[in-house]
Amino acid sequence: MGEFDLIKRYFTPSAYSPDVLLGVGDDAAVMAIPEGRRLVAAVDTIVAGVHFPPETSPFDIGWRALAVNLSDMAAMGALPRWMTLSLCIPVADEHWLAEFARGLSTSAQQYDVQLVGGDTVKGPLNISIQILGLVEADRWLTRSGAKPGDLLYVSGVPGEAGGGLRVMQQHLSASSSHHHLLQRFLHPEPRVSLGRSLRAFASAAMDVSDGLLTDLRKLSAASGCGADLYLEGLPVSIALHDVFGVRAAEEFALSGGDDYELLFTVAPGAVSLLESALLHGEVQCTRIGVMTAGEHVRCLRQGVITPISAHGYDHFG
Ligand code: ADP
Ligand code: MG
Repeated sequence: MGEFDLIKRYFTPSAYSPDVLLGVGDDAAVMAIPEGRRLVAAVDTIVAGVHFPPETSPFDIGWRALAVNLSDMAAMGALPRWMTLSLCIPVADEHWLAEFARGLSTSAQQYDVQLVGGDTVKGPLNISIQILGLVEADRWLTRSGAKPGDLLYVSGVPGEAGGGLRVMQQHLSASSSHHHLLQRFLHPEPRVSLGRSLRAFASAAMDVSDGLLTDLRKLSAASGCGADLYLEGLPVSIALHDVFGVRAAEEFALSGGDDYELLFTVAPGAVSLLESALLHGEVQCTRIGVMTAGEHVRCLRQGVITPISAHGYDHFG
């Protein structure tokens, strides 16, 4: 199977919605941007052995490759619309390609994203997706808008994905808790609809991909304030407790990585807006701290400052 057939068979959608004026097959794609919207772009690459263990199934790789990008759209409050795919594969294995394409299109359909182009080359397995989305012209989310006194929240249960990666790496046995954690790693569910509703009232947002504490430091630095994180307020994962114990569960929650949850701040006066948004949403959000006028991110246990040596993921660290 040559490059042309491969693209035709696995990566050429049979139909597009009307906003795609030209899709896969030409030198570039052309899309229509509605009046009053801004284009939001992000790119994320996942590499075998770095972002996922080499034994990860091609279906899960396909899902994950898009999900990590959708999470960036969620963090901006944007609606994902289109993607391009740069695929670097060592061999054109038909089973691998079919399963990868199925994983990718499953997440693409669920989140209503269209594949409009890409590039296919031979080399060590890595997958790069550029995601393009839309946001209302007057307001999108950033990391830099938090103010001292704003309340700090996180969606979902951070740490479970990091636990799932450990389960996979150590080939731990298969109880329902192990399975739950594995799913959280392999099948992240980007919080796109939460991001869309936060757009109206959150003061700052980012997605948690490198570990909660590391990412909170980034949000605080971007906003020019400090933060107090309440350790006893972290969402509790029964599965993490079950598999790794209470202490390790807290370490995963603070520095696990791969969560793809949203970390966001809300001014005290906007909390009622958040509460009504959460009534209609499908994901739990937990208040885990408050932004401060200081410079540092501090962890507090029952009000006592507790030093934590949590190191998030850093490719060059
Ligand atoms: P060019 O040489 O002009 O860059 P290519 O031969 O690489 O074009 O690609 C042909 C068409 O197939 C282009 O429209 C390109 O966007 C699309 N394409 C190539 N690889 C992929 C892929 N992995 N997924 C989606 N579209 C792809
Ligand atoms: Mg060309």
